[in-house]
Amino acid sequence: MVISAANRAGPGCAEPESSAAAAAKLSGRMRASLPPLGPPVSRDRIIASFPKWYTPAACLQLKEHFHGQVNAACQRRNTGTVGLSLSKAVVVGDLHVGKTSLIHRFCKNVFDHDYKATIGVDFEIERFEIAGIPYSLQIWDTAGQEKFKCIASAYYRGAQVIITAFDLTDVQTLEHTRRWLEDALRENEPGSCFIFLVGTKKDLLSRAACEQAEGEAVHLANELQAEYWSVSAKTGENVTAFFSRVAALAFEQSVLQALERRSGCRLLIGDGDLIRMEGSPSETQGSERPSGLGCC
Ligand code: GDP
Ligand code: MG
Repeated sequence: MVISAANRAGPGCAEPESSAAAAAKLSGRMRASLPPLGPPVSRDRIIASFPKWYTPAACLQLKEHFHGQVNAACQRRNTGTVGLSLSKAVVVGDLHVGKTSLIHRFCKNVFDHDYKATIGVDFEIERFEIAGIPYSLQIWDTAGQEKFKCIASAYYRGAQVIITAFDLTDVQTLEHTRRWLEDALRENEPGSCFIFLVGTKKDLLSRAACEQAEGEAVHLANELQAEYWSVSAKTGENVTAFFSRVAALAFEQSVLQALERRSGCRLLIGDGDLIRMEGSPSETQGSERPSGLGCC
């Protein structure tokens, strides 16, 4: 059964585009009157609108707003346990590509020229406020050494996001990303992870060299069904924007899954506001409409 969100709108319900605008207004009003849901987060961890991709040539979603259903659920603070749970993101890639530097730049806003090789695994928890809802991302830093691979595989499990890093100045590390990704995907349900391909050390390349490396990476990203980003942990370029994008995509998916669980049917969300509901008609029509779904 395919239902267009616009067609489902009944009296008092706006179509998706205007619902986004109405949502923003309502959100402002509600936020003024409702107490915050969690402890305050720093300004750059507050995500009010859907963060943009790095390049449309290799991006996971081309939309510019949170899904209407997600907006509605967030305004009603009806996102289930999303505000209480953690989403897991793992960063994989060869030794020395800059995985630890990238995580440290984002989480601690520092850059150190001399990190000791990460031993086994390590993680940081970053708190966000997304569309008014607290959200935490657990970022796992895996060691690139082969000798730690057996330990690392246990940590791939349950990842919602896989960040595959390579060094923009070393084409071999790009070639190796395919294998890193295979290892990480093997431990997870097919289709359950957002995949990002991240070129590091952007500061070391001229514009022309960067464009050339990006061309190859975008090609591979499309093959891997990954979103591509170029970043620099040294200068901080694109680091916050990248992790904001990661957090927003993971958050939206978590909210949709929470709504799905409550409705007892499966919502398959495309780039637009077209919602496909899977499940028997009696399941989808006869059940009580969950408060987070339906009329926006
Ligand atoms: P990991 O083994 O993948 O965790 O890599 P590290 O984060 O330990 O970084 C390896 C080396 O690359 C270190 O000497 C870092 O200082 C350097 N490095 C990491 N990121 C950058 C970057 O964005 N720019 C530059 N110039 N060097 C970087
Ligand atoms: Mg490291």
